[in-house]
Amino acid sequence: MAGGKGSVTKHEDSAKWERYGDDGEFQGEMCPRCSAHLAVHDDRKTCGNCGYTKHQ
Ligand SMILES: [Zn+2]
Repeated sequence: MAGGKGSVTKHEDSAKWERYGDDGEFQGEMCPRCSAHLAVHDDRKTCGNCGYTKHQ
């Protein structure tokens, strides 16, 4: 876990999966560093692969 801006104490495991459409197509953003899918949180998006965080 890189970053250090705030602590992640609550996990919203279902949030990232809700970004998939009915046909299974990914609706969210890709990581600019490693092209993995970004996990969507209330005020930011994070990459679970490289630790990239994008604040909204
Ligand atoms: Zn990444």
